[in-house]
Amino acid sequence: MNMKVYERFLDYVSFPTTSIEDSETSPSTDCQLALSRHLHDELISLGLENVRLDEHGYVYAELPATEGVKAPTIGFIAHMDTSDACPGENINPQIVIYSGGDVLLNEDEMILMRRDDYPVLDLFRGQCLVATDGKTLLGADDKAGIAEIITAVEELKESGVPHGRVMLGFTPDEEIGRGADHFDVPGFGADFAYTVDGGLAGELEYESFNAAAAKVRINGISIHPGSAKGKMKNANMIAARFTSLLPPDEVPEKTEGYEGFFHLISITSTVEHAELSYIIRDHSRESFERRKAQFAEAVNELNREFGNVAECTVTDSYYNMGDVLRKPENAHVIELAHKAMTELGLQIRDVPIRGGTDGSRLSYMGLPCPNLPAGGVNGHSRFEFVSTDQLSLCCEIIKRIITDAVT
Ligand SMILES: [Zn+2]
Repeated sequence: MNMKVYERFLDYVSFPTTSIEDSETSPSTDCQLALSRHLHDELISLGLENVRLDEHGYVYAELPATEGVKAPTIGFIAHMDTSDACPGENINPQIVIYSGGDVLLNEDEMILMRRDDYPVLDLFRGQCLVATDGKTLLGADDKAGIAEIITAVEELKESGVPHGRVMLGFTPDEEIGRGADHFDVPGFGADFAYTVDGGLAGELEYESFNAAAAKVRINGISIHPGSAKGKMKNANMIAARFTSLLPPDEVPEKTEGYEGFFHLISITSTVEHAELSYIIRDHSRESFERRKAQFAEAVNELNREFGNVAECTVTDSYYNMGDVLRKPENAHVIELAHKAMTELGLQIRDVPIRGGTDGSRLSYMGLPCPNLPAGGVNGHSRFEFVSTDQLSLCCEIIKRIITDAVT
């Protein structure tokens, strides 16, 4: 008897796989390797070919094409790690039949998921939700994606329906932006791929931000405040001045949709030294470049006002995959996903991601890679949940894409 997609999902959720930004190893945490090994063994037991696990915890596998079938090689990718924004150990999933109103996640501690805080719940009336006990995240981001991909491939393999060659890739450290670092694009050998790491069934994400990290270092001059006139350069004040040189409304808390921003992540500051860390985001490459220039110009302004006190470094992190995916030669990758979802009766919504995915970088590494829905809601939160209907639907989308690609 095959495992249902939600049973497989519950199995993966039992593995703690939090990734950690300030780790220098790859994967960033050893715990992720336990899930890597588990997936490796499962893929072998399902009879997939070329199953391999590399030293960084990446797992790859192949479902060979049905004999005589002509189709492109399609890859499906999901990440194993979970965000460190919320506890990811000792996850106690529970299945709740949602009939409306608030959801009591934890009776002992009276943890409620309130309908008024999460009106999205209305979409799930009458469905079975997999949620937590309110103390940890769930990990639907992105173990739902893994469960959907593997279940789709297992079901397809057993159904006897003709299909092309399918490649599977499971990556560590997506949440800390390193999921593509060691991804073996040539070895993967897909013509194009999809990450399965998005929102609700029907949503397709193929535009991400262009992203950069920027740091300003300010060197002040400290002197006794009693005799400081004309001599002190207070790095604290200069840092404050810097923040005023950037547009006050172009910040995450005041932008949405396609609006870009400068986001001040941290300031460390004394009279002598200040360091400001920013991230810069914009969907348009043109205005992304403009923002970086504007940032550098604000640093120049400090140097003019205070005498050479500041320097900055700006490092690009990733680019908008839409610029790759909108090229005419890649239009079929989006069309195929739209077609599959339409055939399943879903309302298509193209959603610009206000962030990035592994696909943002993979698309620039030669593997066009939009993001398919994985069905989860409230990622990185104690209120994360996924409905069993969404798990099944997202699994169907994958199967449909594979079979629709047969020419
Ligand atoms: Zn994710």
